[in-house]
Amino acid sequence: MTTTHSPREDIAEVIATEAEIRDAVERLAGELTEDVGELSPILVGVLNGAFVFLADLVRRLDFPLEIDFMNASSYGEGTVSEGLEIQTDLSLDVEGRHVVLVDDILDTGQTLQGLVRHVTGRGAASVRTCCLLDKPARRTVDFEADYVGIEIPDRFVVGYGLDFAQRHRNLPFIGVLRPELYQSQ
Ligand code: 5GP
Ligand code: MG
Repeated sequence: MTTTHSPREDIAEVIATEAEIRDAVERLAGELTEDVGELSPILVGVLNGAFVFLADLVRRLDFPLEIDFMNASSYGEGTVSEGLEIQTDLSLDVEGRHVVLVDDILDTGQTLQGLVRHVTGRGAASVRTCCLLDKPARRTVDFEADYVGIEIPDRFVVGYGLDFAQRHRNLPFIGVLRPELYQSQ
């Protein structure tokens, strides 16, 4: 397999441009500043997908904050959240702290719902959730993020941290792959 071509060539359709993402990140930064700017929050990025979004977001936040990461995946396909497998747990102590979970995309809602429970269980004073993208049509649990950047249709997207088979995270915009690429996996 040749890997020397640009990942841009694999994109069939752009769902969110760099400018649209920048505007959304700026708006979210304003909302967070308003709500948690005086709370010295801990921002927790949900790996791996949120690394680009978190990096851009925190550079727009001009108040004291700390950064941590978690890696978790939800399992089970029912209409209720079945469970959460945590691959990388918090390294900071969140007891009594205000936490903002930062994720790339809200899909079924199971992962973030589970993470909110987990962080709440660790004694956080408050837990908010911030997602760059939201696919409301895909929700299987009763969960909404407190801060949402861009609502998108029910499509599998890549770029700006989001992958397909670990690739395309480095695209600076969000797009949909050419259909034959999804089928080849
Ligand atoms: P949820 O628990 O909300 O169903 O899952 C959210 C996670 O699934 C996201 O953090 C992301 O890692 C992954 N995911 C959901 N939709 C997409 C998508 O369209 N593209 C990619 N690359 N990952 C997705
Ligand atoms: Mg994710």
